[in-house]
This record gives sequence, structure tokens and C-alpha cells, in this order.
Amino acid sequence: MTRPLLMIPGPIEFTDEVMMEMGRPTYSHVDPAFIAIFSQALRDLRAVFLADDDHQPFILAGSGTLAMDSAAANLVEPGDRVLVVNTGYFSLRMADICRRYGAQVDAIDAAPGETVSADQVAAALQQGDYAIVTITHVDTSTGVLTDVKGMARAAKEAGALTIVDGVCAAAAEEMRQSEWGVDVYLTASQKAIGVPPGLALLVASPAAMEKWRGRSTPVGSYYADWNQWLPIMEAYEGRRAAYFATPAVNLVMALAVSLRQILDEGMDAVFARHRGLSDAVKAGIQALGLAQVPSAYEHAAHTLTCPRYPDGVDASFLAHVRAHGAILAGGLYPSIKSEYFRIGHMGAVGRGDVLATLGAVEAGLRAAGYAIEPGVALAAAQAVMDA
Ligand SMILES: *Cc1c(COP(=O)(O)O)cnc(C)c1O
Repeated sequence: MTRPLLMIPGPIEFTDEVMMEMGRPTYSHVDPAFIAIFSQALRDLRAVFLADDDHQPFILAGSGTLAMDSAAANLVEPGDRVLVVNTGYFSLRMADICRRYGAQVDAIDAAPGETVSADQVAAALQQGDYAIVTITHVDTSTGVLTDVKGMARAAKEAGALTIVDGVCAAAAEEMRQSEWGVDVYLTASQKAIGVPPGLALLVASPAAMEKWRGRSTPVGSYYADWNQWLPIMEAYEGRRAAYFATPAVNLVMALAVSLRQILDEGMDAVFARHRGLSDAVKAGIQALGLAQVPSAYEHAAHTLTCPRYPDGVDASFLAHVRAHGAILAGGLYPSIKSEYFRIGHMGAVGRGDVLATLGAVEAGLRAAGYAIEPGVALAAAQAVMDA
């Protein structure tokens, strides 16, 4: 039997081209060939985020949490008021990080599965002089999608910067950084960007860079400080050698390949593919009689699905699913952790992956004692994909 598919909300299945790049001999980080690859990756990262050339990309060795840390460390000054749109586990992490750098944090809290509206954000911004609004595009713990476009507009009207955690959304959910006025959009390599774990990726707007340049206090992190990294990113993009800390050479090479694959497909096609496959998975799950954590289809993410276990089934069912070909994730949101599981469907996924995964879910449910007719989820998913 072949290995099971990795269908969790990151790391994901990577393309063969990306994995082959990981296995190539490692360049010197100042080899002209590597510098050219890094330069292209920086430009392509901007293109994937639909950010104009006046936006500054950063590619750092680290995980998504470093991307969050880097945004907050450089933009938050002690005493800044930060408004956190809290749609789950990762929103709270962002709140913690901002507090660590001295922010005065207020949150708009959504119950698990609920979202926050742009109007709520606009109203909250009237109540205080906020410097920054943080938003989780897709909270991986609840599968809730937020209205980044509307919230970014509200923030701009109130004169606040936006930091958007796009770790479970970038290169999958619609996002137009320049058009929507998002000041920092950030992600990690192992999610929809499609590269093994180890890179933190950010793109910052001119307004974000201006706030950072105007700081009156030093950045409280040594490694994440843009004073270290801006000259390096500018040098690599301009095809000059530079060194602050050794880049993750093979990961950057793999990133360059993956970004090219994404751009070759085209961003609108990438967004549409994720919507279509997500609709198919959600239809399959619904056909099995399983509820989902997001309370409405309109604010359910297209990168993952969070089904609730049916009566009599618990997390032990995931081992059965694995035995039938798909690795899924358990719950993450603390108060409902044991009540649901998560299916990731982002990056280089296609119709076959969705069908194989739903087939494994069906088989897993039957093995766990939940009586369903074989093929019910598959039929529903195929009806959506063929529509
Ligand atoms: C995965 C994830 C993170 C954390 O990324 P790491 O690479 O695990 O540090 C942050 N935010 C969101 C929305 C995520 O999905």
C-alpha cells in the first residue's frame, strides 16, 4: 500500500518538483545562482500576495509563529493600542505576542465557530485610538474565515495598520494585499504555499515600513528586527550578496519552485480551485450527517473543513481514517477540542485527493461503528465537482 495522504492544516502534500528541489545539493548562500533564486522568490512572494512593488517582502528561516512575532516586534511600540479580532487559537497567540512587545490589547471575541464582522471592527475602532488591528484570515482552530477586505477598509478609515495572519489562507483564500490595503500579510511555508516547514514569510506595505522607521524605541527582538533583515532582503532582490544569518537555502530554493507553480496556475484560478474543492468536501461531510464548527457556510474557510464527530464517535476514529489512507487532524480550540476533527485541503490538492480523503473518512466512520452507506460522501462531493 502507498503511504497515507497528509490532509491536515499544514504541513500538507507537496509537489514532486518542490520535494526534488529540497534534495538538490545546497548552494552557498552567496552563490550567484542562489542569489538569483532568492531574488525571484522575493518578487514572486509579492505577486502571490497581489502586492505592488512598493511592498517589502521578507523570507526568514523560522515557522509561522516567527512571522507573527516579526510583524509585532517591528510594528508594536510599548503603549500602542492593538485591537485583536479573535476568531480562535491563533488570534489569541497574536494577542499574546503583541502584549509581549508592550501593547495594550483589546479583543473582539467570537464564540467558537462564529466570526466578527467588519462593522463590529469599525465600531470598536471608534472607541479608542488604535495603532494596529490584528486579524486571522483563517483561524485553523475553528475553520472560520474572516472578512479581511472589509476589516482592512475599516482599519484604514480609522487610521490603524492591519496585521493579517494568513498562515492558513495565503495562496488559497482570496487576498489582494494592495487593493485591500492590508499592511502586513504573513504566512509560513508548510501551508498552502506548499513547501516543507521552516520559512516565515511576510510582505509589508509602505505604511507599515513607515511606522517601523518612525519607532522611538528599539525593536525588542534581535533575530526578528527588520533593521537586520531589510538590507539583506534588498540586497538579495537586487542580486547582491549579503549576510546577517544563514538563510534556509534548500527551503528558499523549494519556495521559488512552489511560488512559480502557484503563479503559473494564476491567483484567480488558485482561489477558485480551493473554493471548489472545499465545497465538495463540505458537501461530502454534510451528506454523512456531520455538523461543522463554523456556524455558517458564508464564514467557513476554503482551506480546511472542521466536522463535528457524530454521536458515539471520538478522536480514536482518526486512526481508522489513517489506516484507510488519509491523515487528518484532531480538534485544537480548547473548549471544544474533543468534539471535532479537521481536514486540510490546501495547496497542490486536486479532485483525486478529495475523493480519496472522503473515502477514508467513510471507511473510518464505519470502522468506528457509525452506520453509513458506502459512497454517500463521494457521491455528494462528485456532484459538486461535476456541477
Ligand atoms: C499554523 C498556523 C500558525 C502557526 O504557524 P507555525 O508554523 O506552526 O508556527 C499561525 N497562524 C495560523 C492561522 C496557522 O494556521
